[in-house]
Amino acid sequence: MYKIAVAGTGYVGLVAGVTFAEVGHQVACVDIDEEKVKVMKSGVSPIYEEGLEKLMQKNYAAGKLDYTTDYKTAYKDVDAIFIGVGTPEQADGSANLSYIATVARQIAETIENDCLVVVKSTVPIGTNDKVEQFIQDFLVHDVRVEVASNPEFLAQGSAVHDTLHAARIIIGAESKWAEDRLMSIYEPFKLPIVSVNRRSAEMIKYASNDFLALKISYMNDIANLCELVGADVQDVAKGMSFDERIGSKFLNAGIGFGGSCFPKDTKALENLARQNGYDLKTVKAAIDVNKGQKTLLYKKASKRLITFSGLKVAVLGLTFKPGTDDLREAASLENIPLLLEQGADIYAFDPVGAKNFEKVHPEGPNGKGTITYVSNVEQALQDANVCFVFTEWEEVKKVTPKKYKNLMRTPLVYDGRNIHDVLEMEKAGVEYHSVGRPSTS
Ligand code: NAD
Repeated sequence: MYKIAVAGTGYVGLVAGVTFAEVGHQVACVDIDEEKVKVMKSGVSPIYEEGLEKLMQKNYAAGKLDYTTDYKTAYKDVDAIFIGVGTPEQADGSANLSYIATVARQIAETIENDCLVVVKSTVPIGTNDKVEQFIQDFLVHDVRVEVASNPEFLAQGSAVHDTLHAARIIIGAESKWAEDRLMSIYEPFKLPIVSVNRRSAEMIKYASNDFLALKISYMNDIANLCELVGADVQDVAKGMSFDERIGSKFLNAGIGFGGSCFPKDTKALENLARQNGYDLKTVKAAIDVNKGQKTLLYKKASKRLITFSGLKVAVLGLTFKPGTDDLREAASLENIPLLLEQGADIYAFDPVGAKNFEKVHPEGPNGKGTITYVSNVEQALQDANVCFVFTEWEEVKKVTPKKYKNLMRTPLVYDGRNIHDVLEMEKAGVEYHSVGRPSTS
């Protein structure tokens, strides 16, 4: 059993802290957000992730897990501190490392024990070297401190499962001491461990994320071409997926990737390449394709309709993907302002994302258009003139073609996630437009 502190209780930090406690370690989760800490202490998860709240309550009750804003006490005498604070995108695409720097300084000034500092946040290659130097520079007590890289690969919506059943744990260490300690912290997870040097570990994270982003953008590019030449991207993907070299995952065409990782990590790597005098053409192309894809539905619908003014617009799904209440870089955030700007009256359904969306968009810009949050798909679709599908929630996937036809004033559907069968929609008399597939009229 190790005594561990985790800095930052977002998706990465909180899930790491909770799962470390679950496998037997003693964990203190530290955050600067007092409200968040209060909520967590009351047994409520500040984020929506399946299974997380149960594990929080169980391990908190067992005394293996605690939450605090008092970093001084939490960091003082632990064996390892995991850093899971944000590294958001800056205007030039580079990663903002100020949160990491703050935690590094706090660690340097408080630790009184030999301690392994583990950077879980996604950071540009070379950052771990700087963090170690920074901590050494500000170290108050005479203790051994080293920094290891341990990038996180969880996907929001399945974060707890992904952590407990990870395909691999990446460890980037520069000494046997650091490698051994991190390996032994992860030993109870019984998962494959890949141990490399720090810079390679940092690069594995970006190379993996950006490869997935590229795969998505490639399929979206192919989807756009499919539309022009009369092919069906879903059939194309199915045919491709039998090739083991390609695999069957991440071949779904749609309105692009969102979330807190792919958009930021593609831009950060592209920026890092540029700083090093290298033109990372493939990743640049992935960013470019994604940008165009985000507003594809709005552009398609604008060609079909004279105006959105005064139209009842049903929006199904607000979050960047199902299973999360996270809105970061969601397609809804780009399309809804355009619709409101035109004076649309939006009726939006999302099983968990409406509250967060309301915080960002309480009403239409310049007082134009309106947005009403409803609690089921039927309310959104009732008498709607047009419907947009932005997120493939189960509740949305279950909507039958008949339902669109019967509830909507005009059964006109723009589906950004290709969740419905084109022929079924046609048979039901729904005008249906999706991505990379034939439209019905
Ligand atoms: P987040 O924004 O959800 O959470 C960050 C948390 O850190 C916040 O609660 C914030 O209050 C807290 N914080 C800020 N400064 C602090 C300090 N000095 N001490 C303690 N807490 C502090 O972030 P996230 O989505 O969990 O991402 C964290 C990192 O992990 C990023 O680098 C991200 O790229 C990476 N990552 C994220 C995911 C994901 O799916 N979200 C997956 C893999 C990697």
